[in-house]
Amino acid sequence: MARLALLSVSNKTGLVDLAKSLVEEFNFEIISSGGTALTLKEAGITVQKVSDYTKSPEILGGRVKTLHPRIHGGILARRDVPQDLTDLADNQIHPIDLVVVNLYPFEETIAKPGVTLSEAIEKIDIGGPAMLRAASKNFAHLTVLCDPGQYEDYLQELRQNDGQASLNFRQKCALKGFSHTANYDQAISTYLSKLSNPETSNPETSNSGTSDLKTSDTESTLPLNFQVSGTQIQALRYGENPHQSAAWYQTGTNNGGWVAAEKLQGKELSYNNLVDLEAARRIISEFTVRPAAAVLKHTNPCGVALGDSLKEAYEKALAADSVSAFGGIVALNRPIDAATATELTKTFLECVVAPSCEPEAKEILAGKSKLRVLTLADLNHGPKQTVKAIAGGLLIQASDDATVDPDRWDIVTERKPTDDELAELLFAWKVCKHVKSNAIVITANRTTLGIGAGQMNRVGAAKIALEQAGEKTKGSFLASDGFFPFDDSVRTAAEKGITAIVQPGGSIRDQDSINAANELGLTMIFTGMRHFLH
Ligand code: 5GP
Repeated sequence: MARLALLSVSNKTGLVDLAKSLVEEFNFEIISSGGTALTLKEAGITVQKVSDYTKSPEILGGRVKTLHPRIHGGILARRDVPQDLTDLADNQIHPIDLVVVNLYPFEETIAKPGVTLSEAIEKIDIGGPAMLRAASKNFAHLTVLCDPGQYEDYLQELRQNDGQASLNFRQKCALKGFSHTANYDQAISTYLSKLSNPETSNPETSNSGTSDLKTSDTESTLPLNFQVSGTQIQALRYGENPHQSAAWYQTGTNNGGWVAAEKLQGKELSYNNLVDLEAARRIISEFTVRPAAAVLKHTNPCGVALGDSLKEAYEKALAADSVSAFGGIVALNRPIDAATATELTKTFLECVVAPSCEPEAKEILAGKSKLRVLTLADLNHGPKQTVKAIAGGLLIQASDDATVDPDRWDIVTERKPTDDELAELLFAWKVCKHVKSNAIVITANRTTLGIGAGQMNRVGAAKIALEQAGEKTKGSFLASDGFFPFDDSVRTAAEKGITAIVQPGGSIRDQDSINAANELGLTMIFTGMRHFLH
């Protein structure tokens, strides 16, 4: 018997042309479910109906068409396992070399106005996903196609490889097969969960059955339009720890962001690298006017600086906390030049990202072959939303994209800042926005001197930042991501020689802090906007 192809498709686009090529060019025999067989017969193509092949009629109005051992045995048999081949022979089963299936149009059906539950349920395909999953599982031995867009690629593959599809091609098709069934089941469960929880369903989308999670425009102005496209970019070796599995997925159809980044060299990217790189991208995108460098560890900056050159900015950022910088992530807002590259190679770093890299710098960095160097032309465009998983759901919020706007700041003390002091406070505040709460940042000369991150109380964060800044606090600047509930932080800061403070304000005891600042001759600014980061 010639090679066997099983075609069972709801969307008949491209079906006849594919079948013709399979039969005429590659000598396949075709078996098909009822409707597909009819379309092929009408086009003059020889086809055997699945029900004739299995000697089992389609029953229950089409609910059972292809669910038969002669079909699933032919798909799942391992061609290199003798017992599998014996089982096939004993049961008159032919191995199937190609499975072409696309599923009942569930999403299109539920998108129709006024569709009933029973209509929707009849469009839940059972045999199709079973075949897609079986064929995807057995990609070592056969090919699965679930989208008419793949037909021509498959024929080309056969033409180029003596009528065989390569293992690599079959594996890619299997990935697509599993993504397709996963998305299909997701659409069904989204639809059913909306029916079970009508109060959470949005009239605009309750019939859509897509995985869009939208808020209605009347409820919120947040652009919450979150889509899981299900396209896996890369399986990651592991997650945050080696016992956690992980993968990197693309959201939506936009190929921008890290998907568009170019990895010039270095070891494979890890889950933690990607999380840190995104934090690095966010912080460096705050600085555009002057060359800037940020060194991060575990998503927190440990050194950030501006300079007259990129090299100077990097040297200042590194020196800000050279102990923490070991194994750090570096983000730069200018193309990497040779001088900066030379400095970068002097410390053990995990990753470097910049908009681009000059040829000479590439050669220098190549000396550190394990160092991951990425270029991302557009560092300034991040996701519009952030997502966190909680038991039974996801929390989605608009990203903290609020631009820092000193025109809205309120100088609350008698002592007013000079222009340069204001610029320094702006620098400190921008860094502080990207430090985990509770956050205190101390700076001078557009360089961080001390960063207190992720503390359970603000005094603790201030203590760490001040300790790290050490002797250098005299004449320095302090930013706090949240307001001061008491005047104690202001008093401690003044004691250590801090000149000016920027904080959101908004405490019922703000006046205590203002009085203390006036008494101690400090400048203080209220931004009117806080930047908690959890
Ligand atoms: P046809 O138009 O050939 O009669 O049907 C093709 C569709 O039926 C495809 O979308 C395929 O996924 C689906 N299908 C194939 N086998 C079965 C089955 O056993 N049960 C169900 N419910 N659907 C099937």
